[in-house]
Amino acid sequence: MKCNSTSLEEKITSFRQFGKTAKNGVSRLSLSEEDLQARAYFKKRCEELQMTVTIDDLGNMYALKMGKNPDLQPIVIGSHLDSVLNGGAYDGVLGVIAGLQVVETLRDENIKLEHSLLIVNFTNEEGARFDPAMMCSGILAGKFSEEKMLKVRDEEGTTFEQALNNGGMRGKKEQRLREGAGYFELHIEQGPVLDKEQIEIGVVEGVVGMVCYEINIFGQANHAGTTPMIYRQDALLEAARLMIDLEDQLLFLPEDLVFTFGRIYNAPNIHTVVPGHVRFTLEARHKDEEVLQEVRKIIQQTVEKPCKCKRTYEELWSRETVYFNSELICTVEDSAKALKKSYKKMYSGAGHDAQFIASLIPSVMIFIPSLDGISHNEAEYSSLQQCLDGVNVLLNAVYQFDCKKKSAKFYS
Ligand SMILES: [Zn+2]
Repeated sequence: MKCNSTSLEEKITSFRQFGKTAKNGVSRLSLSEEDLQARAYFKKRCEELQMTVTIDDLGNMYALKMGKNPDLQPIVIGSHLDSVLNGGAYDGVLGVIAGLQVVETLRDENIKLEHSLLIVNFTNEEGARFDPAMMCSGILAGKFSEEKMLKVRDEEGTTFEQALNNGGMRGKKEQRLREGAGYFELHIEQGPVLDKEQIEIGVVEGVVGMVCYEINIFGQANHAGTTPMIYRQDALLEAARLMIDLEDQLLFLPEDLVFTFGRIYNAPNIHTVVPGHVRFTLEARHKDEEVLQEVRKIIQQTVEKPCKCKRTYEELWSRETVYFNSELICTVEDSAKALKKSYKKMYSGAGHDAQFIASLIPSVMIFIPSLDGISHNEAEYSSLQQCLDGVNVLLNAVYQFDCKKKSAKFYS
């Protein structure tokens, strides 16, 4: 079974109009005017497919297509319609469009599934307007406090709760997603691996764990003209040496470890003053907890080495690897095989709603290539054929899952 390419293209073109930027990207911050327009359009498209659309108290939208057996929990297809500022036309929205395309194709093929199908648009996945990212799937999974999140403000001072109310998106708590037979999320990879290796499909086994440290270097701020080099305690130079030292050691760990010195603060940050205090972050991601343990050890031992300045470290936060459901991973893999698509099993380095939903519902993700790995950028691009491959793998995986689960129920 394959979906119609023209029909998929039409949907991608239609949805990218909402918040379209001059450079053909998308600015659709969560619950902004543009996002509200996209939401209304999504609702309209769902209703055209005889789906019932509801909203929960977090603005998450649910479109339900009833299956033959009302006793079965629904198969859920989810993603997000919001984008970052000057983002692309594929991140998030493709997964929602894919849901519509699956429902439409099944209708055209005259197939009625045993399970109901539920398409979900999660609110504020990007966290670009209201921090943090994946806010509302996180609340659903009990990872974030609802009370705290409702009070989070955007740059203009509007709270998340106000934005929900202003947009008419504050539905009922009873509508919240709580269970499902399986959760599928199709997404662009947002990294270069599939594109560089010319592989059509990523079968995603999980989302990597990460750890984030903050490191402080306390030197001595002093006059840049009168302090001879030997008498200095330059915190910035010390930070630079420490970073290189850390890099040298971390590069000995497995090569799929990624680490980043992403944020730095330098004081007093004046060209006539020797830097007296530097603070920077070191974030590392890997799927194996033992590797992250090694990272912790290296940071501790390296920062504790004697030096001219005082150095301290603190673990700001960490997140464990989320492993997706093995049965669903197999279903996606079988679907890619059946469609003769090249595929690779991989972990996601980026966060997605699926990592939180996985604690409620057996979950899996499907990736398609991103040109040059570029995303969160107007230049973000996946070809129509690549999008089509992803949707077809999703479609057939959902269909197979429906058949398998139905018979499992029958024989049990
Ligand atoms: Zn996304």
